[in-house]
Amino acid sequence: MALVNENYLKLPGSYLFSDIAREIQSFKKINPEVRLINLGIGDVTKPLPEVCVKAMHKAVDEMSNAATFRGYGPGQGYDFLINAIIRNNYQSRGVSLDKSEIFISDGSKSDTGNFCDILSTDNSVGLTDPIYPVYVDSNVIDGRAGDIGRDGRWSNITYMPCTAENNFLPRIPGHRVDIIYLCYPNNPTGTVLTREQLKEWVDYALANDTLILYDSAYEAFIRDKNIPHTIYEIKNAKKCAVEFRSFSKIAGFTGVRCAYTVVPHEVSGALSDDSRTSLNKLWSRRQSTKFNGTSYITQRGAEAIFTPEGKKQVRKIIDYYLENARIMRDGMQDAGLTVYGGVNAPYIWLKTPEGKTSWKFFEYLLHRAHVIGTPGSGFGPSGEGYLRLTAFGERYDCIEAMERIRRNFNR
Ligand SMILES: *Cc1c(COP(=O)(O)O)cnc(C)c1O
Repeated sequence: MALVNENYLKLPGSYLFSDIAREIQSFKKINPEVRLINLGIGDVTKPLPEVCVKAMHKAVDEMSNAATFRGYGPGQGYDFLINAIIRNNYQSRGVSLDKSEIFISDGSKSDTGNFCDILSTDNSVGLTDPIYPVYVDSNVIDGRAGDIGRDGRWSNITYMPCTAENNFLPRIPGHRVDIIYLCYPNNPTGTVLTREQLKEWVDYALANDTLILYDSAYEAFIRDKNIPHTIYEIKNAKKCAVEFRSFSKIAGFTGVRCAYTVVPHEVSGALSDDSRTSLNKLWSRRQSTKFNGTSYITQRGAEAIFTPEGKKQVRKIIDYYLENARIMRDGMQDAGLTVYGGVNAPYIWLKTPEGKTSWKFFEYLLHRAHVIGTPGSGFGPSGEGYLRLTAFGERYDCIEAMERIRRNFNR
């Protein structure tokens, strides 16, 4: 008899996107002539930068020749990519890392989820709310989250609400928590932490022996000088933080799959006898056991974004999305709506007017302005009363959507 991990049965169904699809289908049935504009897209839409395509084509050719063919690669990734990452993303910001502190992978979703493997189920967990659902669900699967209450909160998780009331600044917990997830620039709220604000978290972590799991998937969207690009810009963060980075949002790799995780040698975890062990060693063991590397072709594609031409092409794509975000922010503010985020991030967090619930306002926007968003309540209890809009659409759609919204909301 094979017993199952019953924690999986505790996970609530993931109905958000299927519920949205159903609402849209039934609207289309009644209004076949209406052209809906989707501002809820949770994926990039611009194709791969040309430099990546070229590099990958070349890599495929190498694979076709016995003299240059590559089989299994080095477990943590090829040096050419690791060195490019260290030089361009860390050294350039005054952070020195050793090659052995970087682990190339197939995605930050897998890495943030899998990292739980090397941590005891006895840890307490803290998260900002609303949040990327992967962090919650992977802790539920491990049995670390406890039970879900009627209010949608798990009993063993410390929630740090981020709402307009606290200006989306999560409050540092009054008690100690073993593991804290931070995601900045944030999905779904599009808000950021300044260097000083992030320093408070690092100080808390150092004082309380807390491990920070820092997801920086949207780093490429940062334009302001006082927003840190990596948590290691903060002094001593190497002692308490692991950082997750992905090529998905910077270079359209959502379908290609490439990311990396930084596990500094200095960050350690406790054993039950109060001794310490290196998380880098454990993660290395975990990856070499259960993961066989990202393809050579993919890693060559990722390397290309660090060339001068690659940087130019990436910048152009991100600038395009950021300009969409600006147009959307301005348009909605013009219409008298209240919005957050959308600067240094591709997400805009719209406060629903007149105290409407996320779902009510989703329906209202669909029926009145023919614009699709994503109900904020799908990202956690504190997302209620908000809608997430993304800047990943086409420019003309963003402009047209703002006109429709202005027509419907201007008093
Ligand atoms: C998109 C996204 C990622 C990237 O995930 P990949 O698996 O690398 O595509 C990671 N974290 C957050 C919060 C995201 O929104």
